[in-house]
Amino acid sequence: MKTMPNILWLEEIRKEDIISVGGKGASLGEMASIGLPVPGAFVITAQAFRRFLVETGLEQKLYASFEKLDVENNDALEKAAETAKGLVLKAKIPPAIRDDIKKAYKRMNSGNLVVAVRSSATAEDLPDASFAGQQETYLNIQGEAALLLAVQKCWASLYGARAIYYRAKQGFDDNTVNIAVVVQQLVNSEKAGVMFTSHPITGEPSTIIEGSWGLGEAVVSGSVSPDKYVFDQRSEKVTERVISTKKIEILADGSNGTKTVEVSAKRQEQQVLSDEEVAKLAMYGKIAENHYGIPQDVEWSIVNTTFYILQSRPITTIGNRKETKGMSGAQGSGKGDQKILLKGQGASPGIATGKVVIINDAKDAGRVKEGDILVTRMTNPDMVPAMRKVAAIVTDEGGMTCHAAIVSRELGTPAVVGTKTGTAALKNGQVITVNGEMGLVYEGVVESAVQQKGSPQVTVAAAAPVITATSVKVNVSIPEAAARAAATGADGVGLLRIEHLILGLNKTPGWFITNHREEEFVKELHDGIRIVLDAFPGKTVWVRTLDAPTDEFRNMMGGENEPIEHNPMLGWRGIRRDLESPEQFRLQVEAFKQLWKEGYDNLGIMFPMVSHPDQFVAAKEMMRGWGVDVENVSLGIMIEIPSSAILIEDFLECGIKFASFGTNDLIQYTLAIDRNNENVAKMYEPKHPAVLHLIHDAIQSCREYGVECSICGQAGSDPKMVEWLVEHGISSVSANIDAIAKIRETVAKTEKRIILEAARNRNAE
Ligand code: PEP
Ligand code: MG
Repeated sequence: MKTMPNILWLEEIRKEDIISVGGKGASLGEMASIGLPVPGAFVITAQAFRRFLVETGLEQKLYASFEKLDVENNDALEKAAETAKGLVLKAKIPPAIRDDIKKAYKRMNSGNLVVAVRSSATAEDLPDASFAGQQETYLNIQGEAALLLAVQKCWASLYGARAIYYRAKQGFDDNTVNIAVVVQQLVNSEKAGVMFTSHPITGEPSTIIEGSWGLGEAVVSGSVSPDKYVFDQRSEKVTERVISTKKIEILADGSNGTKTVEVSAKRQEQQVLSDEEVAKLAMYGKIAENHYGIPQDVEWSIVNTTFYILQSRPITTIGNRKETKGMSGAQGSGKGDQKILLKGQGASPGIATGKVVIINDAKDAGRVKEGDILVTRMTNPDMVPAMRKVAAIVTDEGGMTCHAAIVSRELGTPAVVGTKTGTAALKNGQVITVNGEMGLVYEGVVESAVQQKGSPQVTVAAAAPVITATSVKVNVSIPEAAARAAATGADGVGLLRIEHLILGLNKTPGWFITNHREEEFVKELHDGIRIVLDAFPGKTVWVRTLDAPTDEFRNMMGGENEPIEHNPMLGWRGIRRDLESPEQFRLQVEAFKQLWKEGYDNLGIMFPMVSHPDQFVAAKEMMRGWGVDVENVSLGIMIEIPSSAILIEDFLECGIKFASFGTNDLIQYTLAIDRNNENVAKMYEPKHPAVLHLIHDAIQSCREYGVECSICGQAGSDPKMVEWLVEHGISSVSANIDAIAKIRETVAKTEKRIILEAARNRNAE
């Protein structure tokens, strides 16, 4: 095996090299490889660091000092950290490593180039590298001696008290953890800033750029109000310019540091970027976004007419970006001193501030008032009226597909789910700010959290006439979201979950039947579905028959008659329950029949949780018995259980008119991962090969039979997954309202790429 050298140049690095060059190094190498103008750099590899430890005998010494350390004993921890750091700083770097570093530095620019020296964590799975103390950066370093010292400081930063504690808690072995160091030409920017390559909330194809004078540090640290520019990628025009008063700038200071200076009155008001510069930055942003497949958060800088891209990372990680407080309004932090109280999954985008109301029992949900923040273990359908009122929602449990997540997205209410400790850590009346994009809860009011509830998360189709061969549909669960859903210009509704229509009434279907209120039940369903049908004239709307696990019924009137199930996810739900509760099924069919009679022939019916073709046949026969012309209406199935994917040909033989992957369930049933259990959320893998295998085969079978094959699970709102699905021949995709613009663009791009590749291959033949 080739031994890893002490030094790797940027050109030699790809993103797979993380183990040798750390996250930062790998990302810079990858960026350079796709043609972004990254300032020249080399990386002192993690292996060089290990050699340093071994050859100086430090490895043994450090091992001995950590072996008996009780990290809960603060004094002992501090002492161990100080000793370890001292050892690393005082040790002599072995000549071979020292020479390699010096040689590389000389090669950069005859040895007196001003550089930035940054540590680059190799344990990228540390959830927050800043916590792990692996974020040291030394700017404005010049000369061999200063460089070598900065490198040693970066190495020593691995042994900060917090870093040791954190690793111990996370189960990382201190004796094998490594660190790489990036040495990069310091760009003495005349102007610099940050850029979002697509709108961070809606995914709209507009680039948002913030810029100011001097080093990017001024924008990133939030110490200046930067200019803001919005570039519309469709018209290729700058559509918005906000010129701020830029009072200060940060400049490199002669002796290995930086200084903050006042900007002259005239320059304070001057526009930082010309339209041409904005367009060029947007172009680089697009290159990065196309390469990584998701919108990027980019740091840029300009010297004279030379552009530099300094960093690019997915927008979803900016909440972790310790030093970045720019992008006010989108990130929701203007000063950067906001304390993060909780982290969870950003389940519904938007930012809102309000007073905490903790609801432990759904019966108390009436306590929440307009503008409060609802904090609860997990929302229930009977909390929907309360969910409508609040400014934001925070839950202890759940993932992206839990009840709270689905409903919040449709209500346009910011939500953070799966915080684990929200109900314990927060206090009634406490003011917090919730960032539903990043999954963060801040203490107090985050000043620039201008993105309030109900903000423009909907992308109107007229603004984005992107035509795709693969239909892009939308998911709806509550009729009041129908207009927003239709405003996306979606090609239909790929999933209407009707249980929300009923459960919002706070009565179980069984209650309506027992109390002889069947007509009311049918009317509620009929009226709710009709609102959605009316919003999508001429477009198909697939209405799914009832599918609510028994635990979701528990708190409602009639809930006392629900069976207590050990595992409701695997229990009496979906079509299996309807087939055994003919009256409940019949009432739903009654509502469908009325709608068909009224001329809504765009209505299709989808059966959930089907595991065997016999269930489809049985449901169809029951409908026939109740007078439905079953051969002439559109009846299809959800593929949510591996058995239905495996038996798809038999379903096709039975005459299903369409099939749609319910990946939320398909993933949980294939991998045995409870989708609502935050303890195993990390293992919930939409792209697990077994899941992809099932999906791939089912798509191919549907294609052979000429039957529409779709997806309506949350994975259909993930651009990467959708790219894969389009490549594998899916006929339509149904996404969340907030994801439509992004998904439509992904579909269009993927289709074009496929066509182009086919044409090129033909020409090459
Ligand atoms: C699914 O399982 O992917 C799905 C769309 O259904 P639900 O989330 O309602 O279970
Ligand atoms: Mg499901």
